[in-house]
Amino acid sequence: MQALVKTEAGVGLRLMEIPIPEPDGNEVLIKIVKTAICGTDVHIYNWDPWARKTIQVPLTIGHEFVGVVAAVGDNVHDFRPGDLVSGEGHLVCGHCRNCLAGRRHLCNRTSGVGVNRAGAFAEYLTIPVTNVWYCDRAIPTDILTCFDPLGNAVHTALSFDVLGEDVLITGAGPIGCMAAAIARLAGARHVVVTDVNPYRLDLARKLGATLTVDAAKEDLAEVQQRLGMREGFDVAMEMSGSPAALQAILPNMCHGGKIAMLGIMPGETAIDWNTVVFNGLTIKGIYGREMFETWYKMTAMIQTGLDISPLITHRFHFTEFERGFEVMRSGSSGKVILNWE
Ligand code: NAD
Ligand code: ZN
Repeated sequence: MQALVKTEAGVGLRLMEIPIPEPDGNEVLIKIVKTAICGTDVHIYNWDPWARKTIQVPLTIGHEFVGVVAAVGDNVHDFRPGDLVSGEGHLVCGHCRNCLAGRRHLCNRTSGVGVNRAGAFAEYLTIPVTNVWYCDRAIPTDILTCFDPLGNAVHTALSFDVLGEDVLITGAGPIGCMAAAIARLAGARHVVVTDVNPYRLDLARKLGATLTVDAAKEDLAEVQQRLGMREGFDVAMEMSGSPAALQAILPNMCHGGKIAMLGIMPGETAIDWNTVVFNGLTIKGIYGREMFETWYKMTAMIQTGLDISPLITHRFHFTEFERGFEVMRSGSSGKVILNWE
């Protein structure tokens, strides 16, 4: 089969022929229909410091996908060839306290599809049956391909009650834009989204941001005044991975405000902890998706009208993957989809 492989320590990926994987007893073999490129894949493509310390070559990368079950292992009884599926990219141990208690997203032995084991940028993928998600065929495959990052957005946006609240989202990447759509659906009043990239701010408006702010030019205190807000944002979602964005959030929160942190900071980041203490702020780290509560929620939200389709800005055949990575690296894109058929 054809697969996109990180063959050596350095920039780039290679499209090459490798054997079709064989599912073991508890695994499902999936024929990939579409994949989407994630920021993580771009980190691996670029071979940045994070990729250098995390990725063992050779490795087939990719973890956002939709496909069709091609074969199942001997112990698998819940899925059949032909089922349309996506999958949770975090594999958990199943034995630690959190796993046993049903908090699988908090497993401390999590490993990742396309990061720690062979990924989805290939004609076939095997994953454990416990990671397979049965898809509603009424949902377009372009949307199903984005369930992994949509899950990040849903997990973050539903971490705190946003009904009637004023919400601040820093970072209008694909996940920040989807979080804006979810916050609106969940009944937030103002959904203010910041970024430093005009293309991305435009995308955030298409997804439902009530106001977008160029963080390089505008001050959030002035934005609050303009909106007639008196006491600060009730809920913030950090989705940029930028220390400056986090530092801008803190003084603009109301007392008792809640901050959900999804963005991955470049390293240690200094914040004014006294603002956290004196203003009674709550900061919650978010990793991945709740298994599988988040997957139920996002399916139901899409089925009942959540529309993330404006976020999908580019589609390529997998043989044109270089163009897909180029557009992702340019910053002038939403989700970029690779077709494997
Ligand atoms: P992305 O890189 O596409 O988007 C980040 C956006 O932040 C960009 O549009 C960028 O222009 C913007 N930005 C940069 N500096 C800013 C600033 N000072 N203020 C406001 N915006 C600024 O990323 P994405 O794919 O949408 O993911 C969002 C973040 O979440 C990334 O940091 C990513 O690494 C992280 N992430 C975390 C998890 C998790 O499980 N915790 C999962 C997926 C992604
Ligand atoms: Zn575990």
